Amino acid sequence: MTMALAGRDKYEAVIGLEVHTHLMTRSKLFCGCSTQFGAPPNHNVCPRCMGMPGVLPVLNRKAVELAIRMGIAAHSEIASYSIFDRKSYFYPDLPKGYQISQYETPVCKGGYIDLPANGGEPRRIRLVRIHLEEDAGKNIHAEGASLVDFNRSSVPLVEIVSEPDIRSSAEAAVYLQTLRAILKYVGASDGKMEEGSFRCDVNISVRPRGSDKLGIRSEIKNLNSFRFVENAIEHEIDRQIAIVESGGKVVQETHLWDPEREETRPMRSKEFAHDYRYFPEPDLPPLVIDHTWVDEVRAAMPELPSARRARYMRELGLGDYEAGVLTAERELADYFEAMLPGLKSPKTAANWVMTEVLRRVNESGRPLAEAAAPAAESGALLRMVEDGKISLNAAKTAFVEMLKTGKGAQATIDALGLAQVSDEAAIAEACDRVLAAESDNVAQYRAGKQGLFGFFVGKVMKSMGGKANPKVVNEILRKRLDG
Ligand code: ADP
Ligand code: MG
Ligand code: ZN
Repeated sequence: MTMALAGRDKYEAVIGLEVHTHLMTRSKLFCGCSTQFGAPPNHNVCPRCMGMPGVLPVLNRKAVELAIRMGIAAHSEIASYSIFDRKSYFYPDLPKGYQISQYETPVCKGGYIDLPANGGEPRRIRLVRIHLEEDAGKNIHAEGASLVDFNRSSVPLVEIVSEPDIRSSAEAAVYLQTLRAILKYVGASDGKMEEGSFRCDVNISVRPRGSDKLGIRSEIKNLNSFRFVENAIEHEIDRQIAIVESGGKVVQETHLWDPEREETRPMRSKEFAHDYRYFPEPDLPPLVIDHTWVDEVRAAMPELPSARRARYMRELGLGDYEAGVLTAERELADYFEAMLPGLKSPKTAANWVMTEVLRRVNESGRPLAEAAAPAAESGALLRMVEDGKISLNAAKTAFVEMLKTGKGAQATIDALGLAQVSDEAAIAEACDRVLAAESDNVAQYRAGKQGLFGFFVGKVMKSMGGKANPKVVNEILRKRLDG
């Protein structure tokens, strides 16, 4: 271990990722079965996705459209002509004995993902390809038997293959987060790693720093959490450096990450393309995508996270960091924007989302829609703060309460008696009462003990149960004492 760690400054890690993500279609890639997650085993199946002899696949147009959207977002070239191929292998979760995938002619070629600079150097990770394929079923190893659930069989996937442009585990995590955000923004994927709809294979090699030759890589399959990806990469870099440092050679092989033991173990020696006997799928016509279709999809593209981030900085005056946090997830950015109508300060709304709203999300571990009161109600609370009707603390109290009761902002403020008194006559009366009772202190203040001002403010606030508008209190006291 010590030796490997010491080797880190001599070697550079070279990493390429293959991300598989389910596309958000309602039906499967080649049949009408539902793609819904969590249905009872073998519920969403038919002869086609069970691979019965004689059935014919029919391509789902929506899946192609989502792949095009992703390709446009990643600056890829959308192929006007591509074909599907059979990738043959034997495994119980693959009833046909082959997976319908794309090999030499993927639907999208090239492209890149720019990683946010976050204070450092901006980084561009190039893509090799994005291709369409069907998912396999799922093996479940029960006691004494192995079972197969075909609900997932033929669910549409895109595989997004990066060039080996990634240089560290941290960079891999940023790449995955950026990619996932884009997929969610364009509505291609729900990005749910815990449900297996966003998974990743990691290819890693090491080479002496300064070299531009690629080393022999190993591959770690099927990682489904950001933390596993980072751990697996760290572990694999150390393992490879230790081999090279002790005079050995890394073998090209496939490893499986074991999350419990937090280590990789060899799964099989690397298979090569010829092992899969790729050949064109005879039951599907070539996929022809004309310009008009691509143009239509392009015209309907939503704003992407990087553009949104830049707009928040340019038009709303937010800082880079705030804009980055707010746009990291589309739901959060949508929430923030839905608060803005009628508000004077986008900055206040940004702070509110980054503190109050994100705290609720993090504490509850639930999605935004369930963790926080609706954006419009958050906006209403902040408008009341801006209008001097309630204090910021009152807004925070009301926000928590609203989530429990489901009531709106105004009703909650009324129910909790949180409204702030801005009525000048009432506040003036309270000021006069306090100043009359504190005549000694008033004399001292006028004799030069300026520090007493806060004392008077406190007395007035207290006499009004903390609900007086502090700005009005300050103004009236200034007039009475200094005027
Ligand atoms: P396969 O289909 O056999 O996995 P690919 O050629 O499609 O092989 O490459 C898969 C991934 O491996 C790509 O993301 C690529 O960037 C990455 N890769 C290729 N060579 C290396 C290497 N020497 N070190 C690290 N990653 C690599
Ligand atoms: Mg691979
Ligand atoms: Zn089916």
